[in-house]
Amino acid sequence: MTLIELRRVSRTYTPPRGPEVHALRSVSLKISEGEFVAIVGPSGGGKSTLLNVLGLLDDPSSGEYLLAGTRPGRVNRGDAARLRARHIAFIFQAFHLLERRPAIDSVGLNLLYRGVALRPRQKDSIRALAAVGLHDCAWQNTSTLSGGQRQRIAIARAMAGDAQLVLADEPTGNLDSANAELVLDELERVNRNGAAVVIVTHSPEVAARADRIIRVSDGVVVSDTETRALRETPANPPEDETAETPEETRTVIRATDMLADAWASISSRRTQTFAQCLAVVIAVALSITTLGLSASAHAQVSETFDAHLNREVSASWTTPLPDSEPLMDTPATARSVAGVEAAVIVVDVAATAVSTASATAQVQPHMVAGDLEEAARVEIDVAPWHQGTLAPGEAYVGDLLARDLELGDIASAPTVQVAGERYVVAGLITDSQRLPLLRGELVLGADASDLDEVGSDATLLVRTMAGAAPQVASQLAPAINPFAPERISIVAPTDDGQLRGQIEAGVQATLVSFTLLALLVAIAALVNTTLMAVNARRGEIGMRKALGAKERDIGILITVEAVYVGLLGGVGGLFVGMMAILTVTISQRWAPVFDLTLMPLAVLLGVVVSSAGGAFASIRAARLRPAENLRAS
Ligand code: ADP
Repeated sequence: MTLIELRRVSRTYTPPRGPEVHALRSVSLKISEGEFVAIVGPSGGGKSTLLNVLGLLDDPSSGEYLLAGTRPGRVNRGDAARLRARHIAFIFQAFHLLERRPAIDSVGLNLLYRGVALRPRQKDSIRALAAVGLHDCAWQNTSTLSGGQRQRIAIARAMAGDAQLVLADEPTGNLDSANAELVLDELERVNRNGAAVVIVTHSPEVAARADRIIRVSDGVVVSDTETRALRETPANPPEDETAETPEETRTVIRATDMLADAWASISSRRTQTFAQCLAVVIAVALSITTLGLSASAHAQVSETFDAHLNREVSASWTTPLPDSEPLMDTPATARSVAGVEAAVIVVDVAATAVSTASATAQVQPHMVAGDLEEAARVEIDVAPWHQGTLAPGEAYVGDLLARDLELGDIASAPTVQVAGERYVVAGLITDSQRLPLLRGELVLGADASDLDEVGSDATLLVRTMAGAAPQVASQLAPAINPFAPERISIVAPTDDGQLRGQIEAGVQATLVSFTLLALLVAIAALVNTTLMAVNARRGEIGMRKALGAKERDIGILITVEAVYVGLLGGVGGLFVGMMAILTVTISQRWAPVFDLTLMPLAVLLGVVVSSAGGAFASIRAARLRPAENLRAS
């Protein structure tokens, strides 16, 4: 009975450059059940193309294809996958096994795509392995098998699937003569058991084993010779048929099998999986770190605000004010206002020449009384002999000015001449956060009369308790002078909530953009690595399709692999991110703020990043044409 018929089938390739290639020209051919056919002919004659068309791995450009029980005409890709899964087995010169996985996985692959459950699948695979004498190799890693063993595994795969048609493209091409004999023996056995076998070969010895030899040259069948009478399809059940055929209640791969296959697949490619996981780990770790640090930094911004800016109030006025107390007393008056911690009065003196024995500079001196260090947040490198506040006749010189004046070691109490008066230098101003210009100027100790006489512009700098600034700001002017509070201008921190909010939002925006950039880079890296991986797996993908995988099955396989990589990378990234947050917060002495929602978020992020990276590759992998990929690899 006819198993396959080709009617006037042509296959024309249209390469991007160069002329069209007519690989098959109007070939008509019938292959009967149980036949053993050899296809021979010169290289480039069209043998592989014919085999691919017979196996539904390639679409004819024109003509009709009939597989027993199907309607004549063109077969769509979904039907082709189903027909391949149920009726056709392939044996390739390059073996095409699942590398670095147990042999049994490769043997059962066709059954997997038919939806056969794990137990019957394993049973049939082991039976088929036993039939080719490789029972002991079932759990052996395919990459450790010899060429002959690998080809017999491919034959076992054909047997396990009980294919009606076995197509073999140069099956002995990579084998020595002893192994080639073994493989041919096995193929004969498959044929005796009822399957039609079609072998493409260059070897006359191989062709001599066939019942019929078809010679193809230049895309046409030039001869078709029966060498022996067609063997009767055995009336008695053949040796392997005693075992029951796998039960086929489903036509789609089972979800659990698909998950297990994807896991085995990523486990078999450790280095590549590791590289992909690493990209996810980096993306997730960066995101977790920036999100985590943004929470910690948020808390830190608030604290910094309360610690500094939010506690600074200043009052300034032009002296004298009516009925005012001596300027010397204003710091004490300010301290009597609730919430004030420190106060200093600073009175500007007209700019004048300041000189030492060796240099002179024109500067703006200030006279001060009160707690300069605390209230103005000034750091002073005090001379070892000096104690307490600045006394009349003493000066603190800014370190920059001291350098210009070539001031000697302050321990030896050098002096400066200011407007004809001599001052002993009691310390150097090394930092001044509220009055940054002080590093280039100098402050002079004063008594009550000095302050009131010299003054024209007075400034009272006040440092309040945390949160007390607005209240102090409202009470300070009447406390200094109840008669003319309107002449005193008060500078209090800007609306703290607003400024703090702006700074916090700025910090957050920077961190978020950094995170987004990290994610983009990771996705780009993953698109790249996954595409490279898919390219490297073209042969495997072609083989899976030859064995019945639909485009959707391949797309799902690559996606599930990406999800696994995402899960692993997400967990790894979470761990690395947490460590990074701890390291940064501990080194900065911040209180680490851990948000528990980061945990599921990290894993989800890993999955999203990895699937986004893999999506492109999944589509590409699904679309790969089996014939071209099996040929290319
Ligand atoms: P054989 O198996 O007899 O060596 P093939 O079937 O491989 O021959 O090839 C038949 C012809 O088709 C050759 O000229 C080959 O170069 C050409 N061919 C095969 N595949 C392609 C392709 N994908 N694109 C263009 N030409 C192709």
